[in-house]
Amino acid sequence: MDYIAGIDIGNATTETVIGKIENGRLVFCSSDITKTTGIKGTTRNVIGIINSIKTAAKKIPINIDDIKMITMNEATPVIGDFAMDNISETIITDSSIIGHNPDTPGGIGFGFGETVLIQNISGILLNKKYILVIPEEYDFIIASKKINEYLEKGYKIEGAIVKNDEGVLISNRISKQIPIIDEVRYIEKVPIGMECAVEVAPAGRYIESLSNPYGIATVFKLDSDETKHVVCMAKALIGNRSAVVIKTPLGNIERRKIPAGEIIILGEKRNLSVNAAEGAEKIMENIEKAGEIKDIKGKTGTNVGGMFESIRIRMADITEQEIKTVHIKDIVAVDTLIPKAIEGRVSNEFSMENGVGIAAMVKTQRLLMKKLAHQLSERSGIKVQIGGIEGDMAMKGALTTPGTNRPMAIVDIGAGSTDACFMSHDGQTKSVHLAGAGDMVSLLINLELGLDDIFLAEDIKKYPLAKVESLFHIRHEDGSVQFFNEPMEPKYFARVVILRPDRMIPIPLKINMEKIRMVRQEIKNKVFIQNIIRALKKISITGNIRDFEHVVLVGGSSLDFELPNMVTDTLSIYGIVAGRGNVRGTQGPRNAVATGLLLSYFEEITNGRIK
Ligand code: ADP
Ligand code: MG
Repeated sequence: MDYIAGIDIGNATTETVIGKIENGRLVFCSSDITKTTGIKGTTRNVIGIINSIKTAAKKIPINIDDIKMITMNEATPVIGDFAMDNISETIITDSSIIGHNPDTPGGIGFGFGETVLIQNISGILLNKKYILVIPEEYDFIIASKKINEYLEKGYKIEGAIVKNDEGVLISNRISKQIPIIDEVRYIEKVPIGMECAVEVAPAGRYIESLSNPYGIATVFKLDSDETKHVVCMAKALIGNRSAVVIKTPLGNIERRKIPAGEIIILGEKRNLSVNAAEGAEKIMENIEKAGEIKDIKGKTGTNVGGMFESIRIRMADITEQEIKTVHIKDIVAVDTLIPKAIEGRVSNEFSMENGVGIAAMVKTQRLLMKKLAHQLSERSGIKVQIGGIEGDMAMKGALTTPGTNRPMAIVDIGAGSTDACFMSHDGQTKSVHLAGAGDMVSLLINLELGLDDIFLAEDIKKYPLAKVESLFHIRHEDGSVQFFNEPMEPKYFARVVILRPDRMIPIPLKINMEKIRMVRQEIKNKVFIQNIIRALKKISITGNIRDFEHVVLVGGSSLDFELPNMVTDTLSIYGIVAGRGNVRGTQGPRNAVATGLLLSYFEEITNGRIK
């Protein structure tokens, strides 16, 4: 019996399907999925492919030499990469907004006043409000005595910023409840004589005023323009139990932009240029306007120039071609917030700075693909042919989903790229290949949460969260509570955990569940949803996404637990129904391309194009 194998080499996974032709019909026998070895489209893929074929063959079981033909996807055209640069620093001229999250702040409430050193307390005025700054050498007993003395005289001490971990100690000794922030490492950097707001939430709660841009605006009397600039700051403070915001007299909240540089898009319709500092939306507008893209460059000597250059160098290296022959075919840009350590200032906490994350896709030459096919053939002893375009193949595979029919649109969301295809009633197809998918989401999660652990980021992307409230119960993201009969290990206690199906993973950070969830969902929106909309626009005959009634999602990222709902929410506005595919009624959204390759091969045989 002659078997055929369909292979889809992805950025993340290599998927295999083995089939045979029986009585003029194609029968699918076995499938497999394994990690792609090396960068997609390079000869290092061979090891992974052979392993995958072997595993699939064993399931039937057959010998690998029973396979007469391998048909694989044209894996060359794209390689995804990701570059990240902060394009602008949100600096509040000579003033600072700092979220500080000591373990045990003192007191509760909100205080606003001018900062004054406790040594200089004798100089304060009766009719003004103050925030006391208490340096290390000031012991909590002396500090509390001084505060009480002045409170008694009627002075308005509204809050305190303390170097030592003594917030609670002071709070317990003074006659008025004021917010006290402690463990402020660089207390000497706190500007004195400046307007300052201090907020401490009750235990188990989060600050409300300083994490709200209008809250900050109210306190510091900002106009609407200034308020816009504190949005990022306020967002960065969400989920803190305490925070300090200080504004100096220069006080204009200004965004200082690092020269971000122009992105030059060489399009089929026209060449366009856009400054990266204008943000993702503007960049993507221009990408859309440019039509088919021939290449994308960054102006040399700027941030983006360096960014694109490094993509080109890496790609040239990976694909063994000259730098000048590497052309960027698509990019997807998203705005992001990058945590950056504040130099000096109130503490060693970080602030969030604006950045833009860019995933780029390059077109490599078919030569490399041929090399890969050749090596695969030599190593396996099986004939190899390069099958069709990924989007088209994914469409063929997705059409095996029970209940689907032409006309249909599919979106294959993988690790590196988002591929989409539309097939009309009469079988005409239009497909696209776009940069950015699951990997970009994981990378951004890693970055925005400052995890420095891409595996953890990947888990945060894939699974819901819970808070371990006692050793016997957890609270899920949706607020529901789950009880256990056996106590959990103490290491989970009071932690936010990732609910992997096999085990719980505690997140080693002081970030709360709501914040992590918000970051996760925002990033998915920015990458997945943006790309789905972009893809649908491109494959639509009229450029209007209302053309589609049904959109079937395939690819690893469509396994995402919340993505299908997010997609449904977005697309229902356009009257589109979206759902996860179920390839061959058995594979879920997996194996679409591999299945499509086999179907396509079979069609070619039956049409007499291949003997
Ligand atoms: P490729 O074709 O590029 O190799 P795949 O279709 O195999 O990509 O999809 C891989 C992507 O799917 C990865 O980004 C991975 O994180 C993501 N992924 C896999 N399983 C899940 C899951 N259960 N939830 C969310 N994302 C997932
Ligand atoms: Mg894929």
